[in-house]
Amino acid sequence: MYYIREQKNIIEMLYKEAEEYNLILESIGNFAEKEIFPTAKKVDEEEIFPRQSLEKVSKQGIMAIPFPAEYNGLGLPFPVYINAIEMLAKACANTALQVSVQGMVCEGIRLFGNERQKNELLKEKGLVEGRSLAAFALTEPCCGSDARSIQTKAERLGNRFILNGTKTLITSPGEADIILLFAGTDKGISSFILPKETAGFKVAKVIPKLGFRGHSLSEVHIDNCEVPEENLLGEEGKGLEYAKHILNSGRMTIAAIAVGIAQAAYEKSLSYSKERKAFGESISEFQLVQEKLANMVTEINAARLLISYAAFLKGKRKNIASEVSQAKVFASEMALRVCDNAIQIHGGYGYTDEYDIHRHWRDARLITIGEGTSDILRLLIARLALK
Ligand SMILES: Cc1cc2nc3c(=O)[nH]c(=O)nc-3n(C[C@H](O)[C@H](O)[C@H](O)COP(=O)(O)OP(=O)(O)OC[C@H]3O[C@@H](n4cnc5c(N)ncnc54)[C@H](O)[C@@H]3O)c2cc1C
Repeated sequence: MYYIREQKNIIEMLYKEAEEYNLILESIGNFAEKEIFPTAKKVDEEEIFPRQSLEKVSKQGIMAIPFPAEYNGLGLPFPVYINAIEMLAKACANTALQVSVQGMVCEGIRLFGNERQKNELLKEKGLVEGRSLAAFALTEPCCGSDARSIQTKAERLGNRFILNGTKTLITSPGEADIILLFAGTDKGISSFILPKETAGFKVAKVIPKLGFRGHSLSEVHIDNCEVPEENLLGEEGKGLEYAKHILNSGRMTIAAIAVGIAQAAYEKSLSYSKERKAFGESISEFQLVQEKLANMVTEINAARLLISYAAFLKGKRKNIASEVSQAKVFASEMALRVCDNAIQIHGGYGYTDEYDIHRHWRDARLITIGEGTSDILRLLIARLALK
């Protein structure tokens, strides 16, 4: 059973329509287990972009869950989306990561795009459904946390912009049809929609890495890329303000990925502890193993509740940056502790390729860094608290 009681209970706590939402989520859970989980190991080992899984996810309507019906979305509450992403991550974190990035870009266009952009990109090109894929390009060789200092420039020439610069550590830009890209103009950092076929746009280098090996982490060169001014998203100079809102959404979905990874590692540890024998009994009989299992499940549930709380507030309250950051810091660090304990419970086998456990740890390791490091988010939480 992929859709677990704890997830169901949270939805029941939040919504009077829980019965309907739980049926949808149960079927997504069954889908993730049957259709997405079986290829997860291969995606990691052979470093394959999970395109086939994403096509199935798209057909299942999962990417469209939180977006308005007028753009072919399903118009369901954000906590339903969060639960679906958690289950996808439990099955295959690589698949879930693209859903998270896609959701972030769609949210940016939904919030700050004009009606033409929303219709063209979200609906006609099918970003909401996942018929086209998206990438998000903010980080540069000089700066990630310090996004204000990015050096990519967009120079206005009449009714066009000419973009020049380098982006790095970008998730699968080569697989994307549309890139949401940030660059400085005379008025400040602005956000642009860059179709992948734009002349001068090039994936220059693929950077080998620890986890999420189904994605190619890449450096991108933007060499005299010309885009019409219609490709400016929202107002010139407001890019960083937009990025904050977009990242609020992304941080919740990536935190849900952390919970899904941790849940997978926990469930595998639970089963392994019952099967593995030492000193004549199952290792699950040893209280030191039980302590680990108890801590794992307690922390997973705490993270799930924090994320659900932030997700429930989305759209209801204006500033949810603190709640979102708390959820992301806690969930990402929790996933590392859980995966580390999972390796310990599996003993030497946990360190080998025979089991999935080190993949879970390698994937989880990104989440305290990407979309705002734990350090930067702690600074934000404290700043908001001290205000
Ligand atoms: C697998 C992967 C996928 C990624 N995908 C994308 C993507 O799709 N799009 C994208 O735009 N980016 C992406 N990134 C980049 C990611 O968002 C950045 O790595 C992250 O924001 C941190 O930036 P940085 O690497 O430049 O680290 P830096 O900003 O150089 O930070 C280095 C260290 O210093 C700490 N630090 C920095 N400033 C402070 C401060 N003021 N106080 C205390 N500590 C501080 C940081 O917390 C960190 O520990 C990805 C990264 C990885 C690893």
